[in-house]
Amino acid sequence: MGRYTVQFSCHQCVHCCTNLVVLPTPQDVINITKATGLPPRQFLEFLAPEEIDEVAASDPTWLRCNGRRYIMALKRDTRRGCHFLDKRKKMCKIYEHRPILCQLFPYKLQETRNGEFRGFTLHKDTGCPLHRDDVAETAPLYEAYLEDQEHQDDYQELVRVFNQKRYADKRPEDFLAMFVTEK
Ligand code: SF4
Ligand code: SF4
Repeated sequence: MGRYTVQFSCHQCVHCCTNLVVLPTPQDVINITKATGLPPRQFLEFLAPEEIDEVAASDPTWLRCNGRRYIMALKRDTRRGCHFLDKRKKMCKIYEHRPILCQLFPYKLQETRNGEFRGFTLHKDTGCPLHRDDVAETAPLYEAYLEDQEHQDDYQELVRVFNQKRYADKRPEDFLAMFVTEK
């Protein structure tokens, strides 16, 4: 691993787009909606804890509705994968506008003890074959990471406000009205 580059190349096996759940931020949802014109309900789902193991109960992005909790995810079919995956062509249909989480997969940020940027390595145990036959620059990855951090902060604040709301028929889909206008 170097500070300015990381050895990796994606061989488009589409394992990640088929088998992993993607949790977009509201900003990701806004970007996709603007770029595609699709209403968010068409490409989002709200998962209950029994439908997703990867997110800790303490995660601040759980939406709380009348004693239940849900998390916002891109719709995914267990066989066909992500809503935006073109499985025949092995490509993302919204590649330029995909969530930052997708842009950063499978890179893993490395920081010093003082929280300073040290470089990127690769996440292990995700099922990605982690081919290292090319080199990616870390500067754009770090920019994307910092942008995502800002979006995550805004996301958590929106969820905090949403979770304070109390009414009888509260549903996780109501969260969308806090950042997009639905037609
Ligand atoms: S949005 Fe695109 S890159 Fe992200 S999981 Fe779906 S198909 Fe893959
Ligand atoms: S799992 Fe790895 S190699 Fe396969 S499509 Fe995803 S990033 Fe590329």
